[in-house]
Amino acid sequence: MKAAILIEPHKPVLVEEVDLQDPKDGEVLVDLVGAGICHSDYHYVDGHIKPRKLPLVMGHEGSGIVEKIGPGVKSIKPGDKIIFSMDAMCGFCRNCTNGIPTLCETYGRTVTMPDGTNRFSKNGDPIYQSNGVGTYTEKTVVPADTVVKVSDDTPLEKACLIGCAVITGVGTVVNRAKVEKGSSVAVFGCGGVGLNVIQGSVFASSSTIVAIDNNEFKLKKAKEMGATHTVNSAKEDPVQAITEITKGGVDYAFEVVGFPDILSQAFKSTRPGGTAVMVGVQPPDAKISIDCTDLLMDRGLIGAYHGTARPRVDFQWLLDLYKTGRLNLDGLITKYRPLEEVNEAFEDMNKGLVARSILTFK
Ligand SMILES: [Zn+2]
Ligand SMILES: [Zn+2]
Repeated sequence: MKAAILIEPHKPVLVEEVDLQDPKDGEVLVDLVGAGICHSDYHYVDGHIKPRKLPLVMGHEGSGIVEKIGPGVKSIKPGDKIIFSMDAMCGFCRNCTNGIPTLCETYGRTVTMPDGTNRFSKNGDPIYQSNGVGTYTEKTVVPADTVVKVSDDTPLEKACLIGCAVITGVGTVVNRAKVEKGSSVAVFGCGGVGLNVIQGSVFASSSTIVAIDNNEFKLKKAKEMGATHTVNSAKEDPVQAITEITKGGVDYAFEVVGFPDILSQAFKSTRPGGTAVMVGVQPPDAKISIDCTDLLMDRGLIGAYHGTARPRVDFQWLLDLYKTGRLNLDGLITKYRPLEEVNEAFEDMNKGLVARSILTFK
């Protein structure tokens, strides 16, 4: 079977034949149906984020059908439709119990199975899995605690986006920031996740939603998703524009790009009492400095990881919103490509030609 493997940064991803072991204790083997191209994946290629280990099966956003289960797995069975959570959830640690299972203390962040071993290999050499998942592959093995069963009528080739883009965006608004109705919101960066921060802000009944990007295609998409205003940051200063539109700054500013300078802009665009929320994955050791007097004025600066998701509740909720016409999933999908075209899909994303591309495997 084939998988898209990153051998080293700054080189194209290779689609190669690899070996995959059967699932062991507590693991499942999933036959992939769809995998979304997320900017975080490309960050391993362009060096914005340093991969923990190489070579790496790329991808953390995906959906599929359970093909085999390992010993002891009771939560899921072959034939079940699933969406990957990208964070394994034990269900009993402090964070799982407190409603933030994406920060599970039992599993933590990994690029292997929880016991430190690998299921992927080539010629006997181990291959690691992005986020402990790896979805740019025809099949993958993950802990059963990583997969979320969804209803049988789920269109998996679209629903893969729920696992990262949709929940990271919507969840950040409703689970983490808990945006109140009537709030004003600014969204810096209108890629897959940013567009879903906009959708989430619509669900939260925000009054004003200002979308900021330097790409006109993305700003047009932002309007489709519910932005009330758009600012092209290549043409005007976003902080000044937001301050003018909202007469003094926003209640919530979301940074969804992953650069410290943009996070600083987000903080500066809040009104007294407002909150800046960092969603984008920043480069290693990135730091910002903020004006302490600004902070004193009841402002907040918080981080939001993976939409502070409760995947076992939120994924089906988002699917139900889609099925009843309230979540726009179709508008997020610009293109489907076969696994072999993963590098072309990255290229489309870098050129700003797509909201989201999806790799398919059939
Ligand atoms: Zn992602
Ligand atoms: Zn846990």
